[in-house]
Amino acid sequence: MGVTTDVRDLIKGIYERGDVSGIVKFIKDTSERIKRLVKIMNFCGTHEWTISHYGIRSLMPRNIDLIAGPGCPVCVTPGCYVRELAKLSFEGYHILTYGDAFKLPSGRVSDDRLKSLASAKSYGGKVSIVYSFLDAVKLARKHPSENFIFFAVGFETTMPSTAELLKSNSVPKNLMILSTYRLTPPIMDYLLSSGRARLDGVIAPGHVSAVIGAGAWEFVPRKYGVATVVAGFEPADVILAIAAILKCLEEGKALLINEYVRVVKYGGNPRAKKLINEVYDVVDAYWRGIGIVESSGAVLKDKYSDHDASKQLGIKEEVGTDELPGCRCGDVVLGIAKPTDCPLFMKVCKPDTPYGPCMVSSEGTCRIWYENLPVVLNDSIPTS
Ligand code: SF4
Repeated sequence: MGVTTDVRDLIKGIYERGDVSGIVKFIKDTSERIKRLVKIMNFCGTHEWTISHYGIRSLMPRNIDLIAGPGCPVCVTPGCYVRELAKLSFEGYHILTYGDAFKLPSGRVSDDRLKSLASAKSYGGKVSIVYSFLDAVKLARKHPSENFIFFAVGFETTMPSTAELLKSNSVPKNLMILSTYRLTPPIMDYLLSSGRARLDGVIAPGHVSAVIGAGAWEFVPRKYGVATVVAGFEPADVILAIAAILKCLEEGKALLINEYVRVVKYGGNPRAKKLINEVYDVVDAYWRGIGIVESSGAVLKDKYSDHDASKQLGIKEEVGTDELPGCRCGDVVLGIAKPTDCPLFMKVCKPDTPYGPCMVSSEGTCRIWYENLPVVLNDSIPTS
């Protein structure tokens, strides 16, 4: 049964002393008693960065396998959108993108100009990097004679800021949005229901949960019997989350635990959730490398059609045209493979010249592993 529990109640004493080495010892002792291989998925790319950068895998007993999950929005954004935006950058539209998506490969295209937004720009396409949707709005206001399209990539964390400006009528007429937003609980539901990855515990994303609430993950313990901890991003947060999952496993309980109480509430941020509900419709959506996942995408409601690039320019989502021969990114985001299982890792595929989507963003597992390689290689154990 899923019951929300405070991690401090679960491992009393250790937590209160603020003793990280004590928590690591607790993990070692508990895992010895559990004996079998324990697979824990960290959903979020930022958790993967914390784990890789601080060598948390090296602190784990050999039977604890920490697996990276699908929490990199750039990695799962369909390549067809990149190709269409690259085309439009030569047809009088100024494309605005986050830096993370600038080098995202579009997939199998013969025209070099359309391989990514970075390629388009290098051939003279009009593409600029912005840091936020507000920057996009400011740029469009400053250049009223230009037509802009904002490439809206992200999870629930970035959706409210776009929604706020749309709802308050602050978006100028010459700025459209291509919404490729994705929702996180449906992909976790898909992953667990498909049986493609057997998991013993989930570290749920902290940033996303600040918006949607820890309660949004209650279905994981309830429906699948998998202990779930909403965690922060300091090394101690992650170690504490692992300890809490092991404690649940040892006691045979599947609980929902909120470790990140300093930021995340059970119900999330009501204002942000209201904005999301008012501005977006939930639709079935294609996740690159994975497939179509029910009710996992967000598009602008008809009320905002004037700003909707999909509706105004007839941009359609295409399934599967973005697969790249040899790239195992789809398996990496589902936790079925590790970057080192891909023969192209560090050879053809590097951050400066990414071949697949997981090498592009700072939240992509392949890129994180590449940038923390000595630590990661020392620590990794086989996938199965
Ligand atoms: Fe794909 Fe590159 Fe990762 Fe291999 S290393 S899975 S090609 S992103």
